[in-house]
Amino acid sequence: MTDVFADLVGQAEAVATLRRAAASAAALLRAAAPAVSRAGAPAAGGADRDGGHDDLDALSGQVDGAGPADDRAGADPGAGMTHAWIFTGPPGSGRSVAARAFAAALQCVHGTGCGHCPGCHTTLAGTHADVRLVVPEGLSIGVNEMRALVLRAASTPSGGRWQIVIIEDADRLTEAAGNALLKAIEEPPPRTVFLLCAPSTHPDDISVTIRSRCRVVPLRQPPAGAVAEVLVRRDGIAPDVAEWAAAAAQGHVGRARRLARDPEARQRRDAVLAVPRRLTGVGAAFDAASALIEAAEAEAAASVAEADEAERAALQTALGAGGTGRGAAGAMRGAAGQLKDLEKRQKSRATRAQRDALDRALVDLAGFYRDALTMALRAPVAPVHTDTAALAGAGAQKWDAEGSLRRLEAVLECRAAIEANVKPRIAVEAMMLALWKG
Ligand SMILES: [Zn+2]
Repeated sequence: MTDVFADLVGQAEAVATLRRAAASAAALLRAAAPAVSRAGAPAAGGADRDGGHDDLDALSGQVDGAGPADDRAGADPGAGMTHAWIFTGPPGSGRSVAARAFAAALQCVHGTGCGHCPGCHTTLAGTHADVRLVVPEGLSIGVNEMRALVLRAASTPSGGRWQIVIIEDADRLTEAAGNALLKAIEEPPPRTVFLLCAPSTHPDDISVTIRSRCRVVPLRQPPAGAVAEVLVRRDGIAPDVAEWAAAAAQGHVGRARRLARDPEARQRRDAVLAVPRRLTGVGAAFDAASALIEAAEAEAAASVAEADEAERAALQTALGAGGTGRGAAGAMRGAAGQLKDLEKRQKSRATRAQRDALDRALVDLAGFYRDALTMALRAPVAPVHTDTAALAGAGAQKWDAEGSLRRLEAVLECRAAIEANVKPRIAVEAMMLALWKG
């Protein structure tokens, strides 16, 4: 199996839904093909499907029974397909992988997501003319970006199939951007498909009105065994390393791959897992907090440095830096504003990168205390961190289940506080003190 869905690890149910939808979409295109002139009338597809959301869901149940592969058996060729989708699931479960795979299946010349045709290839490579991808680099997606996107998404697909917009991290839409998007989803052009990715359909992540217009594809945290399997098969990683990394990454596929391949990522993890041992007093707790924050800052700085430099150089070239002609003075006046914009964007991206790095560390730390808790409870589950299992076992003896749980909660509260915009250093210091005191 090397089709576009092959990399969706441990998501059989979601894949079945998406295959069915792709088949329905292909059937819709076939049905529309003999009457190309109808394409001008948006009511042909848009209005019908819009109003009949529930009916569609009921119909797709019938298609279910007919078997996922046979789209011609369905009573209505459009039953499995709709204009707007939300892919939800925990980080690393493959939300954006699923959205891209589905986009490829929609653009596939065979309508299946074969993985080999130009439609599949260009979509997965990010070069398909009718697939637009929004990956927010900063903390939010602004209204201007969204308006421009919605406008372009309304055009007729140049490849004759679908015009697709993928929005990663749709939970980072500003309210205004969300409203711009909602308008487009409410009155979708007949051939436009929106694919949103968000952690959940909780109102904090996605507005209730947008959610009500979308079909939801829930992804689950893939089991460690499935993650290890894909690391071995696709990335050629040795089975024992793959198994260790899959467990340590707690179902996050990208994180598992990084741990298996990147020695620096492993060192950072080792440093985080040394924290419980180092908490011997108040001073040590503050030291550990500083070390954790500084490590996250350093990691983030390294990850954005290259992009920052390239953007600055590109802007300087565009502005004709160093020019002495008559136009140069005028260009420089506009340049100040553009440089300021760029700096603002880069700062927002750096903040995001720091939070992401810190969150990865906190997830590792939570895994350690979760191990201590399961051991204190003598629960028959495998430890997250096999390499610190002995240390977690010692903790379990000392703290018992209650103390282990309190510590696990301290880590989770720290994550929640940072998510709610508490200053990271303050949240981490409070957590370290709680971990020390128990
Ligand atoms: Zn294909």
